[in-house]
Order: sequence, then C-alpha cells, then structure tokens
Amino acid sequence: MNKFSSIDKLPQELLEQLDNLGFNKPTEVQSEAIEPIMQGRDVLVQSKTGSGKTLGFGIPAILQAVNSSEPTSLIIAPTRELVQQIAKELSRVASYINNFKIVTLYGGVPLRKQADSLALGANIIIGTPGRIIDHLSKETLKLESIRTVVLDEADKMLNMGFYDDIIKIVSNARKIEQRVLFSATYPNSVEMLAKKLLQNPLIIKVDTEIESLKIDEIFYKTNSKYQTLQKILATKKPKSVLIFANTKQAVINLADDLNRDGHSVIDLHGDLTQEQRDEALIAFANGSKRILVATDVASRGLDIKDIELVINFDTPQDEETYTHRVGRTGRADAVGEAITLLSDKELNKCSYILNKAREVNESNLENKNTKPLTSNFTTLCINGGKKQKIRAGDILGTLCKDIGIDNNHIGKIDIKPTKSYIALNSKIVKQVAKALKSAKIKKRKFVAWVL
Ligand code: ADP
Ligand code: MG
Repeated sequence: MNKFSSIDKLPQELLEQLDNLGFNKPTEVQSEAIEPIMQGRDVLVQSKTGSGKTLGFGIPAILQAVNSSEPTSLIIAPTRELVQQIAKELSRVASYINNFKIVTLYGGVPLRKQADSLALGANIIIGTPGRIIDHLSKETLKLESIRTVVLDEADKMLNMGFYDDIIKIVSNARKIEQRVLFSATYPNSVEMLAKKLLQNPLIIKVDTEIESLKIDEIFYKTNSKYQTLQKILATKKPKSVLIFANTKQAVINLADDLNRDGHSVIDLHGDLTQEQRDEALIAFANGSKRILVATDVASRGLDIKDIELVINFDTPQDEETYTHRVGRTGRADAVGEAITLLSDKELNKCSYILNKAREVNESNLENKNTKPLTSNFTTLCINGGKKQKIRAGDILGTLCKDIGIDNNHIGKIDIKPTKSYIALNSKIVKQVAKALKSAKIKKRKFVAWVL
C-alpha cells in the first residue's frame, strides 16, 4: 500500500490536507498501523525513530475525535518537548477541521492555565504521565469520555520510571476500549507493560533495514576525544551537528570548550529553564547555532530536522539509547551520519556499536585547517507572538518594507505564544534591533533583543 487513499475510510478532506502538507504517501508504519487502530483494536507498534509513528496514531485519533463533543483520545508521551511536538504535528493535520482543539498537559506551566483550557473542551488531550496524574488528583481532568489511550515512546517512559503512573492513568480511564502502544525498541520492560495493559494486541514490527541504510554509522577509536571531535568538525563541516554527552556537567563543559574554540554552539540539558530549552532548540533549528550539545533526557523524541551528523562524544549507556541517538539523523528523505568516539576503556562495553558501525581511521581526518563551525545567522527575539496576533508576514512586512532589509538576510521565523524569534544575517541584526526601537509591527512597538 503506497498511497494514503488506499487506507480504508480516510475522508477526502484529510487526504487533501495530507497532500497539502507534502505527505504524499504513508510511511510503512502508517500504512500498517492506521487501519487496525481505526478499527478499534489494541495495537503494539515497534518501529524506529523517524519512521512517522506520530501520524500512525495521530490520524486515527483525529478522525475519532471529529465525531465527538468530548475528548476521546488521550496520548501519553515522556517529555514536554515530545508532547509539544505531537501537538504541533496533529494540529497541522487537523487544521482543516473547524475549531479542532488539542490540549497539552506538561510540567513547568501552571496547572491552573491547563485546567482552564481543559474546562473549555478538547478534542484530543496529550500529556506527560506526571502532569496527567496531577490533573487527575485535582480532578481538573476527567477521563470519562476517553476511549483510546496511546502510549508514545513507551520504552522511554519506562526508562524514566513512569510505569506506575501509566498503570494508574489507564486504570483511571474506565470507559477505555482501546490501548495503543508505540515504541522504538522492545526491551523486556515494554513487553511487560504490553502484557499488563494490552488485550489481544495486533503486533506490528516494521522492517527497518531499508530505513537504516540511510544512516551511515561509524566509529573512531580515540583517547583524545576532544581533538578527534575538532578534526571531525573541520573535515565534515556539517551544516548542523548534534553531539551527545552523558551528564549535564559534561554537556556544559563540552559546549564551553567548543564555544571557547570559536564554534557556534548551544547546549540543552535538564538544568535549563523550559524557556531556555525552547530557545536552544529554536536557535539550532533556524541555523543560528550549528552545534547542539545535549543529554539524552533533554533531547528525547525531539524531531530536530535535517541533522547531518550525530556524534556520540560519550558512549551511550545501552543499545536502546544508541538507537535513539542515531535516529536523530537521516530522517525523512535525508541521509545522515552517526559517529561514535570510543576510548580504550569504552571498547569492551560497546560490542553492539562495534558490530553495527564500521571503524574509520582518524588519519582520514583533516589535521591542520581546524577552522571552527560558525553561523551567518543570529536570532533576534521580540516580546510579541501569537497572543498579540503576530504572524510571520507582519514581521517580514516591517523588516522588508519599513526597515528596508533584503529578504535574503532573513531566515526562519518562529512565532511562539508571547515571543517571536527571527533568524537574521548577523551583519544586520544590530541594525534591525535598533530600527525596531521606533519601527512598528502591526501598528505596535515591541522590544527586540539578540538571543
Ligand atoms: P517517529 O515518531 O517515528 O520518530 P515522527 O512521527 O516524528 O517519527 O516523524 C518523523 C518525520 O517524518 C516528521 O518530520 C514527520 O513530519 C515526517 N513524516 C511523517 N509522516 C510522513 C509521510 N507520510 N511523508 C513524509 N514525511 C512524513
Ligand atoms: Mg515519535
């Protein structure tokens, strides 16, 4: 099956919408999973990161929700970032439906605000286990209308210790008729959870061999990792690179070192506020930072697009983590590369890497011209966003027409609820910031600062 239209019961408007969004054909997991999920049975899906799982459960959830005035699907995902990402993907697809409401529940924002949104009604609810439990215990969330519970990234949720919370939530949803579990890997813990929750599930394991050809996995043996890293960056000059380290402190140290050596770099770890994390991702995605250094927890499940290169500076704790990290590159149609740096000490702990990846000798790397990775872009932030009804077109209008900036100097624009982020050629960013002291956007003045 290689067309969305060959999936039974997808309405014409949805098919057109998918086409508009550039989803020309379903991924393998989508063509396997959507029909049985729509038929209402319990389904367990294992397929690798980047294979399109979100719409695999998202399309059935949207179609189920259309016919109900109350929320019928509850989607549970491990982290705030992942919840937001699922919500974004589903709201893009559901935008052809009037007043479709997705409510997201995660920590770090007041319960009150989320409770107010819930009270206004929702079509789909997406949340992290902890925050869903908070709302259940305050009775600001009731699961009476929920018929389908989706567990996304079940393996990660179990790694993060959410087993009890998940069981508690599912047993709270008494009217539940269907349980759907998605996971990139299938360790014993997921098997146990599946046995406990799912009833006579259809098991879908998508063949990942063709997919994995898109990622070139290699490793270098090195006892001076930082130097090897410098050489890799100088040789490959990736447009974007995601580097993993194992602890917050290791991330901070590595980012500091790279920064000191002139690289365009930003870090992502659990000690940052949520706003700082969002901003790190925005700056990386819009190209004003070329290198993102992250811990596993902070980057879990994120769909950061077009990453050319993933580097395991610290070796992952286990094979699952390795699979997740490597899955950050080579997404959709792009080919990616994943490099692991292995010290003598780590060699015997990582036989799975030695088996899967091929060894490359460091002598193939650039030794002299270790020019840092820099970016031509800088992110300018303004204190107005969706709440102020700002759209990208309004910003472009002010920048191009009123301030006289060449369109080519303007990169990606991200509009968030109360702030907007504009990637600008670094040469003009000060000029724009200054001009915005008097120039107006949508007839209003905003404060602008460089991120
Ligand atoms: P997973 O959850 O399996 O890691 P995602 O659902 O996050 O994967 O999808 C990975 C990327 O592929 C996303 O950018 C998504 O928009 C894109 N994608 C999903 N379905 C399709 C499709 N049918 N055609 C093209 N791209 C798709
Ligand atoms: Mg996913």
